[in-house]
Amino acid sequence: MKAKAMQPHGIMFHHFHDRRHPAGQGSLSADDLAEIIRFLNPDRILRARRWLKHAISGTLEEHDICLTFDDNLCCQYDVALPVLQDFGLTGFWFIPTSVLQGKLARLDLYRKFRVKYFDEIDDFHEAFFRTLATSDHADLAEQALRQFHPSTYLADFPFYSEADRRFRYVRDEVLGPQRYNSIMDALIGSSGLNLEDLADNLWMNPDRIRELHAEGHVIGLHTHTHPTRLAQLDQQQQLREYRDNYTYLMSLLGEPPTTVAHPCNSYNRHTLAILRQLGVKIGFRANMVYSEHSKLDFARRDPADIFQEIRSGNINAAAAHTASPPAPSGPQTGRNPADIPASAVR
Ligand SMILES: [Zn+2]
Repeated sequence: MKAKAMQPHGIMFHHFHDRRHPAGQGSLSADDLAEIIRFLNPDRILRARRWLKHAISGTLEEHDICLTFDDNLCCQYDVALPVLQDFGLTGFWFIPTSVLQGKLARLDLYRKFRVKYFDEIDDFHEAFFRTLATSDHADLAEQALRQFHPSTYLADFPFYSEADRRFRYVRDEVLGPQRYNSIMDALIGSSGLNLEDLADNLWMNPDRIRELHAEGHVIGLHTHTHPTRLAQLDQQQQLREYRDNYTYLMSLLGEPPTTVAHPCNSYNRHTLAILRQLGVKIGFRANMVYSEHSKLDFARRDPADIFQEIRSGNINAAAAHTASPPAPSGPQTGRNPADIPASAVR
């Protein structure tokens, strides 16, 4: 999927790792983030409030980019924020708010379970499908998978493996949230764990969000409970998701949020109407497709895609090198394919 020549857009970050936060599919280290910022060129990256101001007035330049952080994650505060501070940058932080009221966001808990307790994502997929096969939903999944074509599903996200696509298809299109949750809770229970333990050190608390706001970052909407398929909810349910999200952030920060990122890229015309009604000015999608670009769906680029570009640049440089006198021994500085973080999209 190619973007038009160049459009102002965001970079979409999710998970980071360090000694406290386990590495997993799509997670970045502080060094990875610094490498991305240097590769993109810090001069092109606008501080969040400046980007917002220009976006609202329609005066962004085509090469302007901004940094965005979804899902209210502690690892972003612990790992990414210090890097932004080193570069003198600020970002957009899109916050689902039900976790700030003590609710457990299962999507995040399940991801943590996956990355912390399975060495390979394939091991997790295997355990998941094993649990599914012994559940009441085994027949439903089996029938749906007979019609499944991995190459056309999530085709806008080229970095997903076939197994990723199969898992996401079953999760999002076949089971839906309730049945999926029941399978995952059974799997976690059979591993001797509970959800409260998994929630430890996962989400930022309200003080940290206030602190980001005070330091010039922009805090935006991301729905209250982060449904993976918002567009499948009716208008009333969508309104509730965004109204609760809006009300919480409004009272936390003392000013109305005016930005949004669409969770899992799921939205429709009802969503956009609700957001306009709430006074939201600027929004972000979760990919680089510019189909019906408006100010409520600026494109965003995945860091995995940027690493691809860094790597291909290094391969070209290495290829050029082989034509010249003997290359110095040892590897080039480029990443090899195995180092490239897979998608951060959930
Ligand atoms: Zn999200």
